[in-house]
Amino acid sequence: MIDRTRLDSLRTAEEERFRESHPRSAELAREADHSLLAGVPMPWMTRWAGSFPLFVDSAGGARFTDVDGLEYVDLCLGDTGAMTGHALPSVASAVQDRAAHGFTTMMPSSDAAWVGEELRRRFGLDRWQFAMTATDANRFVLRFARHLTGRPKVAVMDWCYHGTVDETLAVLDGDRVVPRPGALGPQVDVALTTRVVPFNDLDALDAALAHGDVAALLMEPALTNIGMILPDEGYLARVRELTREHGVLWVVDETHTLCAGPGGATAAWGLEPDLLVVGKPIGGGIPVAAYGMTAEVADRLEGPMRGHEIDVAGVGGTLTGSALAMAATRATLSTALREEDFAAAVPLATRWTAGVAGVIAEHDLPWHVQQLGCRAEYWFCPPPRNGADAAAAIDDDLEGFMHLWALNRGVLLTPFHNMALFSPHHTESDVDRHTEVFGEAVEELLGR
Ligand code: PMP
Repeated sequence: MIDRTRLDSLRTAEEERFRESHPRSAELAREADHSLLAGVPMPWMTRWAGSFPLFVDSAGGARFTDVDGLEYVDLCLGDTGAMTGHALPSVASAVQDRAAHGFTTMMPSSDAAWVGEELRRRFGLDRWQFAMTATDANRFVLRFARHLTGRPKVAVMDWCYHGTVDETLAVLDGDRVVPRPGALGPQVDVALTTRVVPFNDLDALDAALAHGDVAALLMEPALTNIGMILPDEGYLARVRELTREHGVLWVVDETHTLCAGPGGATAAWGLEPDLLVVGKPIGGGIPVAAYGMTAEVADRLEGPMRGHEIDVAGVGGTLTGSALAMAATRATLSTALREEDFAAAVPLATRWTAGVAGVIAEHDLPWHVQQLGCRAEYWFCPPPRNGADAAAAIDDDLEGFMHLWALNRGVLLTPFHNMALFSPHHTESDVDRHTEVFGEAVEELLGR
């Protein structure tokens, strides 16, 4: 359907336009190449469209400005890290205040109890604990689950992503569990640690848990890291029943699905996980993640948590739960990611979805677009029901072109996805700008 020669030449032209309009970023990229591995502070930063990364000068609300002075509508929002919108004034003043009064002492600060109560109110889980990143929170939760059940394995969804957690970087190859393509230097063979099941497949889940060796099922309530895949009607209710029947702890990772509302999909859809993980935006950009658990799980964990050896238990992080983290989280949760914020952001995502769907329909493309709360994403295939179907439709060349075309016209999409995230700071004209740019890209691609 897409003429690949045409795609190549369009991409080359966009690449040229990118280079010409970003001389200062190009210069900084050359400088950084000298001392930084792959020329960037962390590897994902090589994954942007364009032959060198854009260097950012400042970000505020729904926009950022690069070092060449160009302004963009930010639909990436730091891949959810800035879902609140950039540079919240409440977080700026909380951080400034802590800067004058100490960031970290390894003792609790007066914000800690407020934050715990707020998480409890939002998500319905009884007791909470913190980590620096959602990756760490997931690692800690899996460790607790193995400790509590005495079982060695974890179960995850095929093509899931839960951060850099070794056991979760696994996919199915037929019936075999193998490292996810690209996973570097796995520390243990994932076939020994992990059972993998396709999303939306209850029979496969039942069979995987029936082995009796799975401590926890860790999953997103909707997959968000391989395009977006929504659960079938009744799927999550049955997942809850199956995990209970097999004595498996159900861990819901809300790090991305927090887009569904102030208490994530758990509150929006009335889910009842045993444990819940949330990270990324809850500190307004300061690294914080949290995990909650039912009273029943907490009661069973209290003993070891207060024990003499907890400092070497494999759960920790010296800067975790610091006064800085608690102050930033309190400032964020008291001024952002609230009902009224979602009431402003979600209609923008709906408008974006309708705009993209309109272009897809107009050109009769076999693509689709999905929305979950303030997050929406298009993908180059009809709606898949599981991760393997979505992975089969990955088209790096086409994706790269769509991203670069948008970037060159002042709209940033999320890398590794075709995802747009909305905050209350975006406007309808931001959305319409994307629809216009997306429509023009498709017309160019199809030569219309
Ligand atoms: N869980 C989910 C669902 C995620 O998408 C991610 C990161 N994209 C993580 C956990 C890990 O977050 P972090 O990289 O901040 O540790």
